[in-house]
Amino acid sequence: MSPNNALSIFAFPTRVVFGAGAVRELGEEAKRLGIRRPLLVTDRGIVQCGIAERILAEGNRSGLTPTVFDGVHPNPIEQDVLDGLEGYRAGDCDGMIGLGGGSALDTAKAIRLCVTHPLPLGQYDDQLNGAEKIRGNVPPLIAIATTAGTGSEVGRSAVIILKATDRKTVIFSPFLIPSVALADPELTLGLPARITAGTGLDALTHNVEAYLAKGYHPMCDAIALQGTRLAVQHLPTAVHDGRDLAARTHMMMAAIMGAVAFQKGLGAVHSLAHPLSSIAGLHHGTTNGILLPPVLEFNRASSEERLCDLAAAIGIEVHGLTTSQAATATIERIRKLLQEVDIPDRLSAFGITREMIPALAKKAMEDACHLSNPRPCSEADMIALYEQAL
Ligand SMILES: [Zn+2]
Repeated sequence: MSPNNALSIFAFPTRVVFGAGAVRELGEEAKRLGIRRPLLVTDRGIVQCGIAERILAEGNRSGLTPTVFDGVHPNPIEQDVLDGLEGYRAGDCDGMIGLGGGSALDTAKAIRLCVTHPLPLGQYDDQLNGAEKIRGNVPPLIAIATTAGTGSEVGRSAVIILKATDRKTVIFSPFLIPSVALADPELTLGLPARITAGTGLDALTHNVEAYLAKGYHPMCDAIALQGTRLAVQHLPTAVHDGRDLAARTHMMMAAIMGAVAFQKGLGAVHSLAHPLSSIAGLHHGTTNGILLPPVLEFNRASSEERLCDLAAAIGIEVHGLTTSQAATATIERIRKLLQEVDIPDRLSAFGITREMIPALAKKAMEDACHLSNPRPCSEADMIALYEQAL
């Protein structure tokens, strides 16, 4: 990609406290932000596995008096945001802690928005220029990720399924960036293999799609290449030896890097994956992993050189290979990675049928992510890609 006359706007501003034991900084960070009565936004799984208790104990130790909202759905819906907002008001809260995977963190961002922004959530839809209506007067937010995948802890978007459209809707604003992310890989040590694999594939896809996305952005490109390398290198160990802190640490960094890099843009994988979650309830990252190889095949017509760069980044010996051979090797390596982390490579394994494809493709076209895909996608392309992944 060469520079063009269009202006780019970019920022890498999130404060991140990174490393094993980072959550012990909760009290200090809350104090710095003036938070005393936080709303802790999480889901029941995080409560059941004891992580919420650990964070609450950390908060108590620092004199915080949190209100807990643990009603976030795996694919968060508008009602979660409204229920959380009620909790915020009832608890007379003065800030927020988001604790969980992307679902809890995105819900926390949307609640944070609603505290000071009275319009219905749909009015802030990024596709309707919602960002123009978002101001910086939102309460402070401490984001604590319990998975290494979404990178929502450093990102500026929240993805919520709206009541009116039943569609995953992106709300996007620099003012939604968490005030601080506490990135503590120790929190991911007990994550089951299946979730480690699915969320890790989300991190991988963010890096790969950002690298291939249209546009001039060498800074994001550099981050995406290194993030891809970390994910390919360390995901299998994180899945099969979940107590390996080094692998968990590298995956948490890969997730953060993916989310920083995709301010450049994502691609068709995410547009295809979003309706599979909102219509059929599939896990976001797992779905991305399944769709990534067919989309890379589709994109190679416009992105062979970039696929060749990725080959070098993930340790394929490219010397002596043609660009086309290196691109093939990259796609094959990603297929092999899916096998290594025990993720089926077919959507049919998750109950998706041929009859569902036309409705999915229609929703995929409405999703904005594919607008930065390196090769333009028509509805017929979306149908063909679903069929290939079926
Ligand atoms: Zn994603």
